[in-house]
Amino acid sequence: VAKLAVRRVGHTFRNEVVALRNVDIDVHSGEFVCLLGPSGCGKSTLLYALAGLVKPSGGHISLDGRDVTGPGPDRVLMFQEPALFPWLTVRQNLVFVLRGRRLAKADAEARAAAFIERVGLHGFEGALPHELSGGMRMRVALARALAMDPAVLLMDEPFGALDAQTRASMHDLLQQIWMRDRKTVVFVTHNIREALVLGDRVVVMAGRPGRVLQDLEVRLPRPRD
Ligand code: ADP
Ligand code: ADP
Repeated sequence: VAKLAVRRVGHTFRNEVVALRNVDIDVHSGEFVCLLGPSGCGKSTLLYALAGLVKPSGGHISLDGRDVTGPGPDRVLMFQEPALFPWLTVRQNLVFVLRGRRLAKADAEARAAAFIERVGLHGFEGALPHELSGGMRMRVALARALAMDPAVLLMDEPFGALDAQTRASMHDLLQQIWMRDRKTVVFVTHNIREALVLGDRVVVMAGRPGRVLQDLEVRLPRPRD
């Protein structure tokens, strides 16, 4: 399981917007960390830096002791937009990434079925994305992210476009998955309720440029590896 270290990270965009200053965060193995803060405080910039999509102008980010220098299969980023292949069925969307991991066809098919089951989409294997509701598409996106088997799941307000009830069911599903897999998750949100429901740690960011104001343990301490 992965451990992320963010050390004195700052970022200035080319238009001279200073998005981050002096950010220090340790994400321990198997932790569910929510980055909470108002719009514009640099949460997404930090998340993209963790993903390797933004190269911070200062400081260091490492994953299990290795410098993060770009995107890699050990980190999967999820957005509000599920970004499924529209011409592939639910099953095919999953088989595609599993085959990408070089699994044999039969194995990929079996695992795709298992992931579909886990996110509660049994019976919808043959559906195309446009035939599903927004919440169901998000379930497929989550199944696909898990199928990539990343060490770290990075989520940028993934449920922000869903209605309250669908969002609550996604929270239940994500928690259920996290309780079982104990994947390392970094989840960006500006919604304090969402951060408190999901996170076992909440890192509060604010300001322009953004910095860490508070780093709060939300759940009772649990054994760490
Ligand atoms: P959010 O507040 O949900 O993080 P924003 O509206 O700030 O989203 O940004 C939406 C997109 O536009 C992001 O991809 C972000 O990187 C980009 N963006 C935001 N501000 C700027 C800017 N000043 N110049 C160029 N791109 C920007
Ligand atoms: P948050 O995710 O907390 O809403 P962002 O990381 O999206 O914050 O943005 C932090 C600051 O950086 C904002 O002032 C935003 O306008 C700016 N910004 C974000 N993306 C870009 C970009 N690609 N180019 C220039 N400025 C950006």
